[in-house]
Amino acid sequence: AAKAAGRDQLVCYDTQLRTRHLAQARMVDRLRDALEHDQLSVYYQPVVDFANDRWVTVEALARWETDEWSVSPDQFIPVAEDSGLIVALGTWVLRKACRDAAGWHRDHGTRLAVNVSVHQLREADFAAVVRTALADSGLPPGALSLEITESVLVGAGTQRTQAIAHLTELRAAGVVVAIDDFGTGFSSLSYLRTLPIDTIKIDRAFVPCAQTEDPQQVAMVRAIVELARGLGLGTVVEGVETSAQATVLKRLGCELGQGYHYGRPVPADVISATLAPENQPA
Ligand code: C2E
Ligand code: MG
Ligand code: MG
Ligand code: MG
Repeated sequence: AAKAAGRDQLVCYDTQLRTRHLAQARMVDRLRDALEHDQLSVYYQPVVDFANDRWVTVEALARWETDEWSVSPDQFIPVAEDSGLIVALGTWVLRKACRDAAGWHRDHGTRLAVNVSVHQLREADFAAVVRTALADSGLPPGALSLEITESVLVGAGTQRTQAIAHLTELRAAGVVVAIDDFGTGFSSLSYLRTLPIDTIKIDRAFVPCAQTEDPQQVAMVRAIVELARGLGLGTVVEGVETSAQATVLKRLGCELGQGYHYGRPVPADVISATLAPENQPA
């Protein structure tokens, strides 16, 4: 009986795996279709200066939704990465976001942050794609931040060299490079000296729960801020959900914050309306 049960489990497992693969393959097809038919969109979330609550940057975040359903980026971005579709998707987001942000920057000085997958950085023409997106939109290079993750450091040496060459070239043109989700990867910290970066975005896993102000969490944020300062890097904290957290993070020396407390990701027209002078803190 145990044997039979074991075999059943095996069959069941196999079926689940197949179902998962089929679901994944179907999602790739639908995502490719959505991309071709302009059914994706870009939302923007503010990054604020703790000193005065002003919006300094908006981060572009890909969205895939209709009136009936939506798929979270945590689901479709990995699928796009595994299938290689992330290169086309990333270019689409970049070009769209630069067009949206050019006017915000011109009128209000707001900067733009765009997430970049390691797969994009391995393409020979990545730097050229970025330069073209900037030139076509009129957004100045200094108004753009590219958010990359530590995974840039993984993979064959030539791919890493290519990625670093792109980032070095773009930085020379004035583009800012940020390490996203800092503190959640598995690389040794030495990359902070070897990668051409300007800013670290501290992952929301480090944000202290303000009610308790866990001393260990506080110690870690303080150490990361100190490290960044010592290396001449800027800091952004992700996942600021309450004003109490904002107060703690500000006291710990964090410069910029992002999170539901300041605003959720919203469509471009909501950003345009909110940036109007009458809606900005004095
Ligand atoms: P990320 O780049 O670290 O973006 C921040 C994520 O945290 C966003 O999730 C945002 O909605 C969420 N978030 C912001 N504030 C808070 C908060 O206060 N509390 C909590 N719990 N969450 C908060 P989202 O939009 O679902 O995106 C998830 C991830 O998907 C992004 O993480 C990024 O890694 C990836 N992603 C999204 N759009 C793109 C894209 O165009 N290209 C690439 N390569 N990746 C993207
Ligand atoms: Mg990001
Ligand atoms: Mg992040
Ligand atoms: Mg993240």
